[in-house]
Amino acid sequence: MNKLTDKFRRVHDYLRISLTDKCNLQCLYCIPSQNQIEKFQHKNILTYEELTRLIHIFVKYFSVNKIRFTGGEPLVRKNILSFFEQVHEIKKSNHFEIGITTNGTLLEDKIESLHSFGMNRLNISLDSLQRNKFIAIAGKDLFDTTLRSINKALKFDFDKVKLNAVIIKNINDDELIHFIDQFHNTNLNIRFIEYMPFSGNGWDDAKFISWGEMKSIIETKYHLKEIESDGNVAKDFLVDGTNLKVSFISSISNHFCYSCNRLRITSSGKIKNCLFAQSEEINLKSMLADYSFGDELIAEMISNSLQNKWFKHPSTDELAKLNHNIMMSIGG
Ligand code: SAM
Repeated sequence: MNKLTDKFRRVHDYLRISLTDKCNLQCLYCIPSQNQIEKFQHKNILTYEELTRLIHIFVKYFSVNKIRFTGGEPLVRKNILSFFEQVHEIKKSNHFEIGITTNGTLLEDKIESLHSFGMNRLNISLDSLQRNKFIAIAGKDLFDTTLRSINKALKFDFDKVKLNAVIIKNINDDELIHFIDQFHNTNLNIRFIEYMPFSGNGWDDAKFISWGEMKSIIETKYHLKEIESDGNVAKDFLVDGTNLKVSFISSISNHFCYSCNRLRITSSGKIKNCLFAQSEEINLKSMLADYSFGDELIAEMISNSLQNKWFKHPSTDELAKLNHNIMMSIGG
């Protein structure tokens, strides 16, 4: 088994697969405000058969430790549970963890099945604990069901349940402490994410709040004890006297590109070797659909595509100017 290594010797053992570019929410920091974005036609999305072939290739040729499914909203995709059942079959004879990043709105009645199909990690996005603000951010009143999903997920023994909140100045930075008040009796991991610029997402320096500022606000009420990080992305803390873990994702103020271990596949089958990469690399869809392309050849193309990966993503000013970078289409 080979390690997927780029020219800066970063080993890529974490695969993120976007299952769709469609979402049932319209979070203001994620979706471009002007112009409707064109969605992929269904025929251009990787089929479940192509996806399982892709996963087989990754686990057969490369040492992949973790696969995360994202989108768009992965749970809007039809027959999604039978897809996870197939992934479970692959997982039984290979060693890797699976996770899903979801907005939680369609999760509640799927939690048992996801758990029984070997899902290890659930990341659920929730940016406000106030219904009106939730609606203002997400565009729909699905607040109760999202909260119920989080509370229900905590009752199962998933390896990790995380809550993702993107924090934007003067929008929800006044809720940092409230998030901790709400969950301090649980063993949730709350991750406060720095707002990142994407095409048309209203990025503005004035709306940015760094992880350091967030931490200082929280420390006006709670003592945060630094703990060893279980990955290379988050700065992790335990709220003193509780099992609640609080993490900060500092993609902008303190990037972690030097230790990046992620490779992304968009829902249409393109390899993205960085969330902000300007050029999409090869498109795997046609090859995955055509069995005259052997698995080994596809593995070789994946490995080669990593060699163009840059060392670090550009500055926020430059990122904000890019007009091809739409989080929904890439898969967050
Ligand atoms: N629909 C799923 C969800 O809501 O979690 C998965 C896709 S979403 C694009 C993945 C993650 O990206 C979410 O946690 C979301 O909050 C985060 N995200 C989207 N746009 C962002 C931005 N501009 N800055 C920081 N995080 C962002």
